[in-house]
Amino acid sequence: MDHASRSISLQPSYDASGVLPGSASGAAPAGAPADRIEAILDILRRGERFLVCSHTRPDGDAVGSMLAMRMLLEQLGKRADLVTAEQIPKVHRTLPGADEIRTAERVEGSYDAAILLECDGLERTRLLGLERFFLVNIDHHATGREYADLNWIDRGAASVGELVYRLVKAAGATVTPEMATCLYTTVLTDTGGFCYGSTQASTFGLAQELVLAGADPIRIAHSVYFSTPASKLLLLGAALGNLKHEERLAWLWVTVEDMARTCATEEDCEGIVNFALCASGVEAAVFLREMPDRRIQLSLRSKGRVNVSAIAERLGGGGHESAAGCTLEGPLSRARDQILDELRLSVDALFEEAGS
Ligand code: 5GP
Ligand code: MN
Repeated sequence: MDHASRSISLQPSYDASGVLPGSASGAAPAGAPADRIEAILDILRRGERFLVCSHTRPDGDAVGSMLAMRMLLEQLGKRADLVTAEQIPKVHRTLPGADEIRTAERVEGSYDAAILLECDGLERTRLLGLERFFLVNIDHHATGREYADLNWIDRGAASVGELVYRLVKAAGATVTPEMATCLYTTVLTDTGGFCYGSTQASTFGLAQELVLAGADPIRIAHSVYFSTPASKLLLLGAALGNLKHEERLAWLWVTVEDMARTCATEEDCEGIVNFALCASGVEAAVFLREMPDRRIQLSLRSKGRVNVSAIAERLGGGGHESAAGCTLEGPLSRARDQILDELRLSVDALFEEAGS
């Protein structure tokens, strides 16, 4: 395939208000996503073997969209290998086909294209050897960049799974119950259970279509939210013991020692930040995890008025306006002071502007 001739530049498909004109509830905007969908389908139809990848610390959207993408490719009579740099967390390992996702540091073999889902930069895959492939980037992050040969970034989509669903429909493929289960999981987890700002009327339309196609919303919700391991509950206890709060900000953290004492793994940290955000009056929250190399992994969340992706991006990370992350140098106290300075600036600016 000729890489250069297939590279196209794409505009985000939502307007400044964050409304998605091409969503299920409205007509597609002129010349926007349909072109991209067709260009991607053209690549899928013309190739035989595809590599499908996502980011490190794979979440529900990463896993569900990869699995659904493979199901689509198989329906088109293609072969797909799924690879991530890190293991799939236990909570998502029950998804159909999840046990066949390989973990590797370097990708080998010959593929017609590598499809990167949910990665706002190639480095987010933390996989070596991707550069030599024709790259297709499908993403919905606020910090999404056009680093691939073919890019489809729709910042208005609730999940990358939503974009895979649009591809499936455009391809005339069947949304099987297994595919619907994977795609519903992407929507449920990436909207934080239909709570985050990315949730709109069309999100419920999509959820309805997926449930009608065979996704069981109760079983999936139980599997995501009611299957918490004891180690995570113990870790949450440690984190809540470190919870601090000032006016519109809340923060909490765990040390390497907290992780060891509670026998917690990295995946047990998922979602702990929400326990700080849920405090009344809090506009933004951060969870800090000290890693074994003593660097600090940050999870930032906002109730919608503070743009945490802009803060994360300034600090070398990225994400969405209401959910973002980055890694800072330790020690923990320094990283905490650094992020609190940033958050205080944003919150103060916001409320000075609003005059409240
Ligand atoms: P979480 O706090 O759940 O780990 O991540 C929240 C969001 O921020 C996700 O969309 C995730 O992909 C993004 N994110 C987290 N850490 C990083 C990072 O280090 N770099 C970038 N670019 N995005 C990140
Ligand atoms: Mn996502």
